[in-house]
Amino acid sequence: MMQLFMPLNFLGFIYREMKGSLANIEQLFVLLRRTSQVPDKAGAPDLRVEQGALEFSDVHFGYSAQRPILQGVSFRIEPQRKVAVVGGSGAGKSTLVKLLFRFYDVNGGAISVDGQDIREVALKSLRSAIAIVPQDTVLFNDTIYENIRYGCIDATEEEVWRAIRMAHLERFVQHLPEGVNTLVGERGLKLSGGEKQRVAIARAILKNPPILVFDEATSSLDSKSEQSVLKAIQEVSQGQTSLVIAHRLSTIIDADLIVVLQEGKVVEQGTHAELLARNGVYANLWRIQQREDTEAPAVRPEKEDS
Ligand code: ATP
Repeated sequence: MMQLFMPLNFLGFIYREMKGSLANIEQLFVLLRRTSQVPDKAGAPDLRVEQGALEFSDVHFGYSAQRPILQGVSFRIEPQRKVAVVGGSGAGKSTLVKLLFRFYDVNGGAISVDGQDIREVALKSLRSAIAIVPQDTVLFNDTIYENIRYGCIDATEEEVWRAIRMAHLERFVQHLPEGVNTLVGERGLKLSGGEKQRVAIARAILKNPPILVFDEATSSLDSKSEQSVLKAIQEVSQGQTSLVIAHRLSTIIDADLIVVLQEGKVVEQGTHAELLARNGVYANLWRIQQREDTEAPAVRPEKEDS
């Protein structure tokens, strides 16, 4: 039953691509077909995740032959560690995630999970091992409860409530007109960016996969709601291998490793403190964002759940 819902995990991605470049529903189906164009090898075994180590080794990729996007990207996420990828717009951060999910295959090098090249394993098993908290979370026209339970359709009520608490959504839910039974989505209550992200986090908690990917929202949240999303991320990523695509450096200073991408190449990697001491690309990005934060603080005040 759960497998039936798996492809929906990618709707966030697809929605974003559609918003950016496509206009109608027919094209959505083209896009959905494209997501399954990477075929399984005949008799490909299921991915076996024991530790949850994730490695990008000398990855080369371009959406077209004329324009290379990733040019020899290498980094490793040790089991249960958190690695953040940062870099300017167009550096190739989201492309790394699309490759991890095998929307496309690498042109050179490899991506492996616990030493298994992801091209060699059954796609379904790969995608079941990863949960994504996307930039734009798709909310269905259903209750908040069902929207969260969709992370694992077999979850019990107790498990859903645990996810609600861990995602710091409890107080928010309690203040809704009909609590967890309030309708949300296009025809229901509209959620703020931070609230939607926390719904995605709650879904990821329910799915409980060995690998988590956070594709951080580009638009900044006000600092209170950022803190609350951050707390939720920290809790959910405990004990799981996490890849964070970060736009705001303030959210990833605790990462075990920060990988700095520039024009498809890793130009620096290290911890926040190491990279600041190095006084290179990362330190420069950090200074720019610090300045921006003081010039334009709160964007949109949201209620914080604690
Ligand atoms: P941002 O911070 O703006 O989200 P990013 O670092 O995540 O950027 P990517 O989205 O990975 O960057 O894009 C890297 C490059 O690949 C960009 O030049 C982008 O225009 C290009 N690109 C992304 N998706 C596609 C696609 N589907 N087809 C062709 N080119 C693409």
